[in-house]
Amino acid sequence: MTNYNLTKKFSQFTYKLLKVLPTGGKSYPGYLFIKYAGLDSIKKLANEQLETGSILITGTNGKTTTTTMLINLLSNDTDILSSVDNNTIYALTTALLSKKANIGVFEYGIRDIEHGIPDKVQKYVQPKGVLYTSISREHTQVLGKKNSFEQYVKAKTLLSKDMMNGVVIVNTDDPNTCNIGLNKQEDGHVIYYGLETDMVEDVYEPTDSYCPICGKKLEYSRHYMNQRGVYSCECGFTRHKPDIKVTKVLSSNGRLDVHVIGSVYNYSFDNNVSIDVELSLPLFGIHNVYNTLASLTAYACFTPEPENIESNISNYFNSLDFSILPPGRFEVEKLGDKLVGIGQGDNGDALKVNVLFMKRELFNSEAEFIYCTPDANEEEIFEDHLKTLKTVNPTHITVVPGRVSLDAAEKYYEKIVEIGLNASYYPIEYDFDKRIKGIVKLINESEYSNIIVTGCGEEQAVWNIIKNKIKEENKN
Ligand SMILES: [Zn+2]
Repeated sequence: MTNYNLTKKFSQFTYKLLKVLPTGGKSYPGYLFIKYAGLDSIKKLANEQLETGSILITGTNGKTTTTTMLINLLSNDTDILSSVDNNTIYALTTALLSKKANIGVFEYGIRDIEHGIPDKVQKYVQPKGVLYTSISREHTQVLGKKNSFEQYVKAKTLLSKDMMNGVVIVNTDDPNTCNIGLNKQEDGHVIYYGLETDMVEDVYEPTDSYCPICGKKLEYSRHYMNQRGVYSCECGFTRHKPDIKVTKVLSSNGRLDVHVIGSVYNYSFDNNVSIDVELSLPLFGIHNVYNTLASLTAYACFTPEPENIESNISNYFNSLDFSILPPGRFEVEKLGDKLVGIGQGDNGDALKVNVLFMKRELFNSEAEFIYCTPDANEEEIFEDHLKTLKTVNPTHITVVPGRVSLDAAEKYYEKIVEIGLNASYYPIEYDFDKRIKGIVKLINESEYSNIIVTGCGEEQAVWNIIKNKIKEENKN
């Protein structure tokens, strides 16, 4: 047996062991495989295990939800293997070792070139499709090193840069992902998805976005959400017309009515397929309308059974509920006579989205904002958060350290007070259990009937435990 085959067998054997072991090391088989067979062996492995090939999902926000939706849609039509909510090459390789399948669907997050190795992943995984959700300012600090936004965009670009004859799927409302698409037009198929409706409008004051070509400030004729909208630059750079678009977003009877229409290239069929569907979604925020659109677009591009696209999309989304969203997701709970919104918001976008959920309570009545801070060297995230805090101007803010550094938390607190917001500082040492107990205590003892708890937290699980404790207390 060759070294490669031996390593593959051995790594697969550890995969079987992991099914018996209850916890830990979910990516261990992939780690072992890469360690002994080498990173470049992934190419052979992917070829052996996948008939059609892989789809990679990347972006700043929405990766996990979009990937989950795509997995659900595609697995109705064909055999797939997947990894979601774990963004490493080890998780991806572990999934490849698990079984043979037609298509691999992998969430792949890239914070920077060095740790994300997007160029190598492209070279060895040889994706047939790369889907971009959005690219906004986040993770400017990676393992203690500054990472400029330009480098961050470049890292994401490399994931599809050398892919030939594949399908690049981009959010055309986002200038950075749109530009990635424009640069790939010569190499294969590019599908642009976006919104085309006047039923969606950003309630926040728009932040400036800059042209990915010349760096000048972009002009927007419509703002859908943060940097996403209809934009152009005096240099000639402009939003590409969407191939598939959402033309209606309307809440009615506790659901969200959405109309999607368009025509996209299907990889198996090697031809275009058209889509015209009316969907009834859970009362999602706009970011999840984007996730819905992104996932159904990728599904339409890659399903081997294009005849039933419309009915499959309708059946899936019309029966969807909130459980599709990741465990740290923002949820609003009743606790006695209090209304409490809790969930992770560890970048500017995510925090804004959470605030929108409680728009009425936060802007029109007395409310407490329990704000969990970013870490040291995450000033950019804090600046984004601070803008939202300023817009909301809650009656009272309690500042709690969200990540490792208590010094940083205190520094952020001082800045909040400096701009005239009413705040107090509540330090809790870096210990999951103490943080959870501390936040639950703050909620219980708050004198306000509307409370929002969001910001940075170490793990989705922490948010989930806090939510569950509140749900439990509610029952008692
Ligand atoms: Zn320009």
